[in-house]
Amino acid sequence: MLTGQRKRWNWARNQCCRPQRFLRPRTTQELTRILQECHSSGSEVKVIGSTHSMSDLVCSDGYLISIDRLKQVIDIDRDSASVTVQSGMKLYRLNNVLARNGLALKTLGSTAEQTVAGAISTGTHGSCRNCGILATDVSELELIEFSGTSMRLTEASDPDRLNAVRVSLGQLGIISEIKMRCVPVSLASEKLEKLDVDFVMDNLDTFQSNEHFRLCWKPAKSMLVVQTINRIADSSDRRIGTLRPYRDRAAWGQWLVRALKKGDTLAPFERTGRSDTLFCYPRLGVRLAGLSNRLTGGKSALLNSEYAIPAEKWPDACRAIQVAARDGEISRKYPLEIRFGARDDIWLSPAYQQDTCYIGFYEKRDTSQNGNEELGAFRAFEELIRNFDARPHWGKIHFFNPEDLRRVFPMWDSFQTLRSEFSSTPNNGK
Ligand SMILES: Cc1cc2nc3c(=O)[nH]c(=O)nc-3n(C[C@H](O)[C@H](O)[C@H](O)COP(=O)(O)OP(=O)(O)OC[C@H]3O[C@@H](n4cnc5c(N)ncnc54)[C@H](O)[C@@H]3O)c2cc1C
Repeated sequence: MLTGQRKRWNWARNQCCRPQRFLRPRTTQELTRILQECHSSGSEVKVIGSTHSMSDLVCSDGYLISIDRLKQVIDIDRDSASVTVQSGMKLYRLNNVLARNGLALKTLGSTAEQTVAGAISTGTHGSCRNCGILATDVSELELIEFSGTSMRLTEASDPDRLNAVRVSLGQLGIISEIKMRCVPVSLASEKLEKLDVDFVMDNLDTFQSNEHFRLCWKPAKSMLVVQTINRIADSSDRRIGTLRPYRDRAAWGQWLVRALKKGDTLAPFERTGRSDTLFCYPRLGVRLAGLSNRLTGGKSALLNSEYAIPAEKWPDACRAIQVAARDGEISRKYPLEIRFGARDDIWLSPAYQQDTCYIGFYEKRDTSQNGNEELGAFRAFEELIRNFDARPHWGKIHFFNPEDLRRVFPMWDSFQTLRSEFSSTPNNGK
């Protein structure tokens, strides 16, 4: 157990706090005891995973609890294609465990450094028109309320509360166990092309017939990079699971690196690999930390905001972004990352009851200035994208206040009501 008042930074080093105590329980029992103590003393509690969030979700001046030691696999059921894990397991470890058992997660974000609970709790998503965010595949979980009482929520027994807890930003309690639906691990083929932006906008339906589909676009330019991934085999060949994800290490993730650096100067390619290693680049997070430094001259991190807009507004939003970028009203230094995802019923999901287009904006953090000024490029982008009914990504930079959030997340009030029922200490989870 670590204690003290050391400064704690998040992964991108844009958020910092000095918690009263920093705790890393090894067991669920220890976690429960800590919560009971905090509850009796009225101490503020916040739970963190890998701190890959760039918003202030991962900071607290009270008790900061890291779940990184709760990382065991509890059960894998090949027949029903499901896995139950402790919530602090990192996604890249889960991917490897699943692959050895012929299974994989249906979708993944760009990196797999996050904990399962952290990724679930902020609505982390990949780019798959027919899959939802990762949390949609959570079929059951155990939540330990801030009072130390635990509850098990399943799709069958309590679908509403499960939909509230699936994306709950650590505000309803600490998720200790998660059961997720999986799919057979497979080989997949990835293709990268450079295409005209108008052509892609006019033929969106064709591109969306791909299982996974993502765009990288420097908005003042007329060409963009299109990544498509499709599965080409199922798990009947058990050898797929034993393919080493790092075999082609030099190539993994390089296109994203080059796209961020050079946009449309990227050379197209086609390749085949194990599905999970194509969806998300294994251990990319580690190298992204270095990449951030390289891209910004070693001075600061590359930061990211991302907004979910109704999928049908995508072409209008892109045209508005194009005009603003050409007029110099928004930064055009780094490409936008454009992805798509299916609607769901999760209360605080960015895709709540709407098929969604996610637009990610990158900019370096200028450490020579301070305060809000350094995030000016993010503010300008947010001002524009708000015109398209944008919902912010919980784990990335945004400037939505509670009233703004209430306007764009229809279940905001219901979530707050549940939150006051769940936590009897007002500060808990803030
Ligand atoms: C390099 C990089 C790439 C990324 N790629 C993508 C992407 O492709 N798609 C995407 O959607 N997002 C992406 N993100 C965002 C990232 O997935 C989210 O910020 C995610 O929440 C980080 O997980 P984490 O384990 O670091 O959680 P943290 O950042 O530590 O915590 C996030 C939230 O989860 C809560 N939480 C953590 N553990 C628990 C628990 N046990 N119980 C309850 N609540 C808990 C915390 O309180 C906090 O509110 C990326 C971020 C980075 C830095």
